[in-house]
Amino acid sequence: MVQSVQTFINGKIFTSNPEQPHASAMIVRDGRISWIGEQPALKRIEGNCIDLKGQRVLPGFIDAHLHPLWLANASTQIACTPPIVNSIADLIVEIQTVYQLSRNEQWIEGWGFDEGKLLEKRTPTRWDLDQAAPDLPVFISRTCTHIAVVNSKALELAGITKETPDPPGGEIDRDSTGEPTGILRENAKELATRIMPVKSLEENAASLAELGSFLLSHGITAITDLSSRTGPTDYLNLYQTAVKKGLKQRTVLYYMWEDLKEQPHLKPDQVNCKNQIHIGGIKLFSDGSVSGKTAWVYTPFLGEAENYGIQTTSKEELTAAVEAAEQNQIQLVVHAMGGQAIDLILKTLDTKKNWLSDGPSLRIEHAAMPTTQAIKRAAEKGIAFVTQAIFMFAEIESYHNNLGEERTKQTYPIKSMLDAGVKVALSSDAPATAWADPANPFVGIKSAVTRQAYNGADTGQEQRIDVATAILLYTKAAQEITRIPEVGKLAVNHHADFIVLEKDIFDMDLDKIDTVSVSKTYMGGELVFEKHR
Ligand SMILES: [Zn+2]
Repeated sequence: MVQSVQTFINGKIFTSNPEQPHASAMIVRDGRISWIGEQPALKRIEGNCIDLKGQRVLPGFIDAHLHPLWLANASTQIACTPPIVNSIADLIVEIQTVYQLSRNEQWIEGWGFDEGKLLEKRTPTRWDLDQAAPDLPVFISRTCTHIAVVNSKALELAGITKETPDPPGGEIDRDSTGEPTGILRENAKELATRIMPVKSLEENAASLAELGSFLLSHGITAITDLSSRTGPTDYLNLYQTAVKKGLKQRTVLYYMWEDLKEQPHLKPDQVNCKNQIHIGGIKLFSDGSVSGKTAWVYTPFLGEAENYGIQTTSKEELTAAVEAAEQNQIQLVVHAMGGQAIDLILKTLDTKKNWLSDGPSLRIEHAAMPTTQAIKRAAEKGIAFVTQAIFMFAEIESYHNNLGEERTKQTYPIKSMLDAGVKVALSSDAPATAWADPANPFVGIKSAVTRQAYNGADTGQEQRIDVATAILLYTKAAQEITRIPEVGKLAVNHHADFIVLEKDIFDMDLDKIDTVSVSKTYMGGELVFEKHR
């Protein structure tokens, strides 16, 4: 926070504050906005005068659903996505390159593949990966993060053989002779991840601080971690250490239910949303993903008459988790993509009274395929839907393949949700997004306003929203859902977290929105990012 006064003039400010949507000047005192309005009403310049030169200003973005540690680590791994990897052959070349530089026992890791985007239109196997790295373990994560492929060396180290049974809630893929193919689904992934080397707290904290700077360049001033753990490193400690190394974002952690269920009692200080790093909720999963055909759907996946996806929680688990959330006065946050997964939550918790007063008690993450009835019920109950329009933009091949064109157009019915009165946020879910720059908010905004995939495919024109609404869903609505105090709009007494754009997002071809870049990012009135030309 800057202990000073500054006056910003000549801005084209979109405030995300419905009571005063537009402004051109603002006074910032000790990190907070003390006055905002039209320049002719500005009585005098106070403190330093900063000329915004007619550029578009927005509140800083809040990514309500993100996996920062995975995203930070992904930058040190092979990006198995276009434009780098377009085929299994490309993947083999990329692994070979890393293999040649690798040392003994080192794991080679990659992220982001989507078989729908690969030339061969199939999931790679251990035998593909073996060609590139016969004697070092390889672990490649699918874009959804629910599925991984490992090579023979990794299977050997993990002790996975023909005889290994499928773990509860997981599947080890096998060929016709029963031999594991290297493809590990849902909980079966843990058989490999539990033996992979763990980075030190200091290393991870440094990566997070570095990621924080990168996210500032995208205008993201508040973040969330939807896969926070209590061990081996407690994420609260990890993020607090990252702050010491320079992480600036206001950050909300959502702890995995499997970690919290043993010891569900949190200290008031840990859940205090006034702290830069705090715990906001408990996270659990009620299904998998659309792109991995593991979302728990009402109509089977295309061409697989019996495949309704996977249910990954139970009424009992949901009930136990909701009690823990209420006890700690934090949110219950449930991943649910398919209609059946969403309805399980709504039915199980239908009589549960909201326990929070400063925002939704219950969040449903993704909400790809809610029924009309589910949308209505969520509106009545004040349940938030945290969606990712970037999914249908980036993963269109999988959506078409698994759902067909018509059903794809009905996914993420954001307009219908808003019309019904549901609290909705846009977010990235990076890096669980098959896009080379998955955290870029402008990609998600473009998808929500054009309802067109990256390849031009129609993803449902009836569900389009306008640019202002999309920005609100990434700012004001994201604040209401994450409950980070005094951010998300530019209004008196709010933190002066705002961004200056190179191009005016309100005055351009909608198709070009993903090319908008941020020239400056301010937090608490302090310039924390400036683009160098
Ligand atoms: Zn996620």
